[in-house]
Amino acid sequence: MQESLRRNETSCATLVEEYLSRIVKQSSLNAFLTVLADRARVQAQRVDAKIKAGNAGKLAGSIIAVKDILAMKGERLTCGSRILENFISPYDATAISRLENADAIIIGKTNMDEFAMGSSNENSAFGPVKNPHNEKYVPGGSSGGSAVAVAAQMAMAALGSDTGGSVRQPAALSSVVGLKPTYGRVSRWGLVAFASSLDQIGVFANSVEDAARVLEVIAGVDAHDSTSAPVPVPQYAQLLDGDIKGKVIGLPKEYLSSGVQPEILAAIARAKTLFEKGGATLKEVSLPHTQYAIATYYIVCTAEASSNLARYDGAHYGRRAQNVNSLEELYVKSRSEGFGAEVKRRIMLGTYVLSSGYYDAYYRRAMKVRTLIRRDFEQAFQQCDALLTPTTPTTAFKLGEKVSDPLTMYLSDIFTVSMNLAGVPALSLPAGKDQHGLPIGLQIVAKAFDETTMLQLAHHLEQSGFNE
Ligand code: GLN
Repeated sequence: MQESLRRNETSCATLVEEYLSRIVKQSSLNAFLTVLADRARVQAQRVDAKIKAGNAGKLAGSIIAVKDILAMKGERLTCGSRILENFISPYDATAISRLENADAIIIGKTNMDEFAMGSSNENSAFGPVKNPHNEKYVPGGSSGGSAVAVAAQMAMAALGSDTGGSVRQPAALSSVVGLKPTYGRVSRWGLVAFASSLDQIGVFANSVEDAARVLEVIAGVDAHDSTSAPVPVPQYAQLLDGDIKGKVIGLPKEYLSSGVQPEILAAIARAKTLFEKGGATLKEVSLPHTQYAIATYYIVCTAEASSNLARYDGAHYGRRAQNVNSLEELYVKSRSEGFGAEVKRRIMLGTYVLSSGYYDAYYRRAMKVRTLIRRDFEQAFQQCDALLTPTTPTTAFKLGEKVSDPLTMYLSDIFTVSMNLAGVPALSLPAGKDQHGLPIGLQIVAKAFDETTMLQLAHHLEQSGFNE
């Protein structure tokens, strides 16, 4: 696209109109909460002028959608919640200003599970997002709107957030590339907090190369986020064609059990063959604490959420209940009216695991198990350069299928939450379809700050025609 822009065969202004019309045509997918038509048109004019002058930025002409959990100055920031329905952000997230400074065009803000809590997008206060491969199915969550925007060509790339799989899982279910960087690789400034020790901004794209290009723009230390890491950012896109010869890829045996849909295991076998053809070696490894990952994640994330969401009190942000007679009534009514059922469930679970008398039994224990899970990865990476796993145990499920059973919904996160607990980078790559035409995703996991190896391996599979 950038080449045809340089050759003057198209313009950003034309591209913006094309994407806006596809957004309107596919509104039944419910992927967008706010379409930024005017902002996109103004930016398109600006970038067209820069292209003419020969000084356009790295992402000139890229049409990008962002999850509605990222702050954009002067725009709505709902987090998929009634409590922030009319909240306007007073500032830009660092990732947003880095995109716009690189001449990307932000086309809109995407639908999501309320406060990023969910795996199906059915927890949005603004209705579920639908899977473009079959509208009766979920697109995954919580960044479902961003995944679908990219899958249905309503954006060239998108940003999401991944606390326990919310970029990788919807990427797998919707057939796009979804990348969660190392914890600390991308600044969280302007990313509304769900669970601060797990949250990381991630990228959706239609190719590994596009994901690499966006990542190199948004990554890097930021004075506004003290957990952002002062680690140099490689030029990922230029490093993609690297040889995979001699790489050792681990297959964690706990992730390849009989509980996984057979077509997903078959995709793993195909990937294995392609990696071997490229000169890599595959070997079985073990992540022995995998069975505790879901319990640990749902204690840590709810504990942090109960604290992070205390700020929505009817006074500081967003919705304020009417006709109240006391401060306590203001809190209770604003929160009761503003939050949906899943958010309330998480706040209650989190408050419980932190409460005196239960703290040691749940929260402190979960922190210890988190250390064991992190060590599992350190030990596995002493024997290999990357891991290959399924992204999800099954392909997409039907809308409504799991809403009444939160535990079953939580269990579907089994292959994604450990990477957040350990802080390591992971990417989901499209891996063909199942017998019902629903997408399969495979996950490649790398050592902390080694996104390069992960992207090279994914690129290798992609270029070998893996998704055809
Ligand atoms: N599905 C997980 C949850 O509901 C992950 C969410 C996320 O990554 N934001 O918590």
